[in-house]
Amino acid sequence: MTFRGDYAQGQGGNVNTSSGGGRGGGGLGSGAMMLLPLLLRGGGGGTIILVLLALLYFSGAFDGLLGGGNDSQQQSQDEYSLEHCQEQGSSNEYDDCRAAATMGSLNSIWAEVLPAQADVQFTEPEMTLFKNNVNTGCGFASSDTGPFYCPRDKTAYLDVSFFNQLSQLGGSNGPLAQEYVTAHEFGHHIQNLEGTLGLSDYKNPGEDSAAVAIELQADCYAGIWAHKASQGENAALEPISDEQLHQVMQTAQSIGDDSIQRHSGGEVDPDSWTHGSSEQRMQAFKSGYESGKMSACDTLNRGVYKS
Ligand SMILES: [Zn+2]
Repeated sequence: MTFRGDYAQGQGGNVNTSSGGGRGGGGLGSGAMMLLPLLLRGGGGGTIILVLLALLYFSGAFDGLLGGGNDSQQQSQDEYSLEHCQEQGSSNEYDDCRAAATMGSLNSIWAEVLPAQADVQFTEPEMTLFKNNVNTGCGFASSDTGPFYCPRDKTAYLDVSFFNQLSQLGGSNGPLAQEYVTAHEFGHHIQNLEGTLGLSDYKNPGEDSAAVAIELQADCYAGIWAHKASQGENAALEPISDEQLHQVMQTAQSIGDDSIQRHSGGEVDPDSWTHGSSEQRMQAFKSGYESGKMSACDTLNRGVYKS
């Protein structure tokens, strides 16, 4: 259990749901804009992606995505309702309610931190919890993309079945680890408001690239949230235990570019990195978590944050 008080009852941000087909509507496709996924599988190498897909397939992780089970077919036809998130304790019980509650807490923390530390006005993003696939302002995406943020519609997208895939990569499915994922995507919204998100360019990768700096900063911003949300009288979170912190580290470790490259059977190639190594991602979260300060997350060396 991590959420306390009102937050234990799915007190969410602007969260909506999409089941299967997405919102529909036009404007997608040719005008598609960069979206920011939590991890990038394969770093542009087609074979690497195929190997990973095969690996996940044979390990059973893709049952739900390839329609291998009745469950997934059933799910895609069901209305996707968040009614169960009204129950007391729901955000400590259900993954989707936990994500919604995390958005609520992120909104209240960043409404304070962003103006105070960066002198930037805060506006709330949206979150769409989806199943299977979704139409977004940045184009069509499937669950296979993993969680991501789309700057064009200022929305974080999450299929909570991702958390099961994460365990296949060696990550943790623990509550705080899940919250870290949501807080990372929210971090991209903060960068969008700061006007720096556009610096990320996955076509120019490498361990010293702007892409990596942006991703590590989002990890660090997630740490700031965990720091702030677990302190004070109105804290959304119970005090964070060593075990929970360890689970976050385990997840950050599993989505490091070197770890993903190793998992996919490829060479570890820092020149192709877009998100940073396991070590870098763990360090980035820690920097934000220990300090609670944006100045500790200044991976772009802007020097604009109040300390
Ligand atoms: Zn990211």
